[in-house]
Amino acid sequence: IETEFFAKFPTSSQMYQRACTLFPSGVTHDGRYMQPFPIYVDHATGSHKYDVDGNDIIDYWSGHGALIMGHSHPQMVKAVQDQVAKGTHFGACHELELEWGELVRKLVPSGEMVRFTSSGTEATMMALRVSRIATGKTKVMKFAGHFHGWHDLLAQAAEPPHDDKTYKMPGVTHGVSDELIIVRPNDLGLVEKAIAEHDPACIIVEATGSRWGVVPLEDGFLQGLRQLTADKGVLLIMDEVISGFRVAPGGMQEVCGIVPDLTSLAKIVAGGLPGGCLTGRADLMQAIAFDNPFGKKMKHPGTYNANPLSAAAGVSALKLIENGEPCRKANESGAKLRMGMNEVLTRKNVNWAVYGQFSIIKVLPGYDGPRPVDDKFVPYDNDFDRLDCKHDAQLGHAFRCALLLNGVDWFGWGAMTTAAHTDEDISFTVNAFE
Ligand code: PMP
Repeated sequence: IETEFFAKFPTSSQMYQRACTLFPSGVTHDGRYMQPFPIYVDHATGSHKYDVDGNDIIDYWSGHGALIMGHSHPQMVKAVQDQVAKGTHFGACHELELEWGELVRKLVPSGEMVRFTSSGTEATMMALRVSRIATGKTKVMKFAGHFHGWHDLLAQAAEPPHDDKTYKMPGVTHGVSDELIIVRPNDLGLVEKAIAEHDPACIIVEATGSRWGVVPLEDGFLQGLRQLTADKGVLLIMDEVISGFRVAPGGMQEVCGIVPDLTSLAKIVAGGLPGGCLTGRADLMQAIAFDNPFGKKMKHPGTYNANPLSAAAGVSALKLIENGEPCRKANESGAKLRMGMNEVLTRKNVNWAVYGQFSIIKVLPGYDGPRPVDDKFVPYDNDFDRLDCKHDAQLGHAFRCALLLNGVDWFGWGAMTTAAHTDEDISFTVNAFE
């Protein structure tokens, strides 16, 4: 594979050599690291991206999930171009931020008030601080394997093994780590026990299940968690950075019919430009207000908060998504892809599975349980824990290389479809996978 890879991507290989003395491991995001080297992209449109060697590649990174309309949707390009000409940063309030916030409030069930940030990491960090100010408590509960960005507290234990109680995130102080309680997902009894023992300010949950769905949440878990947290006086933060505006215009909370206290959003909310926000109950969001009922203000500066370019892209994206059609289309492509790939695995008798929900696709190598039937996945008789195997890194690199050689850029072990993916893209991808 490596020989073919060098032959197909010679310019990327040269660029990576330049990068290796410039960036640690030659990359600007851990997830973009791959062996023997990552590809360098020149431009992208719809569901395709084009690398510096002129290769046409079907894209399933979809801007780390930020692009539900695909790359460079003409309406969004125009909105950003118009805004660039008017100014990229006013250092002031502007009307587009109102329109943007009003759209978030309209689409997201829990959205009563909004504060924009520059990323999803900032949005989840803000959720914790608001929760602490509002409750006067300090501890935070999260679920093993769930990813919420890379700030000190929540970077902890996003990856297996979760049973190593002595593990501390490198570079994070013990004082910070000690405020965190990590509980296995899909077990409300355990959550109830941990609440009784630790009395946390809040519980944060990745709405798709860990790492956008490697370990899905069992049916009813989110609803049960909502009930339990409400009963026990613990705030529920739904992290919809991935699922927000993707699974449905109102995210997973719309699909599940629940209203969390706070919701962190990023990616699609800013239409593929940098941005995020926290939204939720107005009484809690008051923690950010100058004159607030808690008598303590959460400080929130941030040079790029509600940046006009992100606002222009975000408003344009949310208006396109509002009628639900792009989400429906992306979900439909996701289902077709999962079923097509599972059909290949069955026919070839390979012990892997392809699963996921909505527009999210996950590949699990070395899986010996029952494969999804008609896109419905019941792993190991409902023993979801066993899905949290560590994906083998070397096999992962080989898998990505092999797909790239066949014209597909797979997002690690996962993938996200957009409204721009066509049936032709899907059958091309299933063939590439085969
Ligand atoms: N929460 C979740 C669920 C995420 O998937 C991510 C990023 N993939 C984040 C938070 C962090 O967002 P960002 O990369 O914008 O900081």
